[in-house]
Amino acid sequence: MTEEGAPTSNFIRTIIEADNESGKHDGRVATRFPPEPNGYLHIGHAKSICLNFGLALSYGGSCNLRFDDTNPSKEEMEYVDSIKEDVRWLGFDWGKREYFASDYFEKLYEFAVVLISKGLAYVDSLSAEEIREYRGTLTAPGKNSPHRDRTPEENLDLFSRMRAGEFEDGAHVLRAKIDMASPNINMRDPALYRIKHEHHHRTGDAWCLYPMYDYAHCLSDAIEDITHSICTLEFEDHRPLYDWILDQLPIEAHPQQIEFARLNLSYTVLSKRKLLKLVEEKHVSGWTDPRMPTIAGMRRRGYTPAAIRDFCDRIGVAKADSVVDLELFNFCVREDLNKTAPRVMAVLDPVKLVVENFPEGEEEWLKAENNPEDAEAGERQIPFSRELYIERDDFLEDAPKKFFRLAPGKEVRLKHAYYVTCTDVIKDAQGVITEIRCTYDPATKGGWSDDGRKVKGTLHWVSVKHAGEVTVRLYDHLFAKENPDEVEEGKDFLSNLDTDSVKTLSSVFVEPSVLEATAGQRLQFLRKGYFCVDTEDSEPAKPVFNRIVPLRDSWAKAQKRK
Ligand code: ATP
Ligand code: MG
Repeated sequence: MTEEGAPTSNFIRTIIEADNESGKHDGRVATRFPPEPNGYLHIGHAKSICLNFGLALSYGGSCNLRFDDTNPSKEEMEYVDSIKEDVRWLGFDWGKREYFASDYFEKLYEFAVVLISKGLAYVDSLSAEEIREYRGTLTAPGKNSPHRDRTPEENLDLFSRMRAGEFEDGAHVLRAKIDMASPNINMRDPALYRIKHEHHHRTGDAWCLYPMYDYAHCLSDAIEDITHSICTLEFEDHRPLYDWILDQLPIEAHPQQIEFARLNLSYTVLSKRKLLKLVEEKHVSGWTDPRMPTIAGMRRRGYTPAAIRDFCDRIGVAKADSVVDLELFNFCVREDLNKTAPRVMAVLDPVKLVVENFPEGEEEWLKAENNPEDAEAGERQIPFSRELYIERDDFLEDAPKKFFRLAPGKEVRLKHAYYVTCTDVIKDAQGVITEIRCTYDPATKGGWSDDGRKVKGTLHWVSVKHAGEVTVRLYDHLFAKENPDEVEEGKDFLSNLDTDSVKTLSSVFVEPSVLEATAGQRLQFLRKGYFCVDTEDSEPAKPVFNRIVPLRDSWAKAQKRK
């Protein structure tokens, strides 16, 4: 949904509106966001969150937060907590609607007993390997297990003993009895339960029998009276199973499963398994590393919830997979920060500029607007003095004609200050420039000339005497390849990691007010991009800034060229 204005239409909204019209769910809209707590949420999940919560909001419905915690081995409380924090930070509220699939274990077991009693499920004792062999292939039908014709009595007995812990992992599974010759492999007697002697983060050791995703998911949806169960495309072939299970069981609700294309983003991996690998093998500093596409990493980097929601709205929902250009995301981030981030000056790669005709030991405080895009942002005072820092690459000794920055004999504007003209350059024995000298024109205060004299370049600067010193981290894509999964034979996605994706500058000079920036605060460093005070590595009066995004807007430019 857009912040203001009408939500963008899509095929899911069309379905819901038709349902509301026909009274299919009595006009009710109930969605859910069902993460498995086995990792941190990422920007792909944000798409699903915005969609599910957004639909509930715009149709006066409800959206549940449901932890799909049916697999005990990979789930942890840390993930549950992080997921809640991330959904809340994105701006969505599930109120009291917080559920865990594990709370339904008893009910799900009872439903399985119903299926067995009706002759619609059986205990199979083939090994995992044999089950795979019996399943057949896309072109060949499967064949029936020798245990398929066990009687309901025998199955009920075995199933209760599976629950009681009489068998080892893998000794038996409970399978639905559907059709081993179905063209849809998901319908070839899929497993519903497996034995796992493992501790569960919520149910402890109460169970050694755990339901499979396909079985637990549709029933959890129905138990919660969900109307529209929205999932990603890879579940399209599971829909017949979703419907089959609900059709066989005495449960009134029958949610409609609707599939949409998952988000793929260039230069980014969005698989929890791969993100976990990056964390575990320490290719990044953790789940909150500012280069990670996790919500927690993005928050730390400085991206805003508004920008993420805007992005999710712009990409929309479709029925076909595609890869979204990361530059579209950066465009949304700039759009938001341009309106909200105060401007300040910081010199990342400093060289000294001495103003020869400004008296030694004196200083002048100049007026500077905080944000030209925000009339309410007000002004601040910045100090000017004889010795300044400017960016090293804002000066060229042998400048080409089109170089509009500083060069011998050239005049430029110092932002919010004066026009200056370069008079001399001083170098060390190696020929490295140590100091640039200039004179300023006192009649150009504020950076404007009354005599109509124009300058093409405007530079940012910081007064040496007043400068604060901060650390700045500049980021590049975590992966060097647009598609990180495109790898040479025998290698994996890690071979595409960019080994140089963060550059730390430990001596960046800033105007004095910047030292007061607090953790999480976002600023625009003029001409250098948007930066955010790191929430983990900063200390009082010693902020560490993460660059959120540079100012250059290649997305908008590329769109214009098209
Ligand atoms: P796993 O591989 O562990 O199942 P998952 O990415 O599917 O990972 P879930 O925790 O099951 O993670 O996902 C929760 C919800 O988020 C699901 O409804 C899923 O469809 C949705 N989701 C996950 N990844 C994306 C994505 N890239 N784009 C859109 N939705 C996604
Ligand atoms: Mg999943």
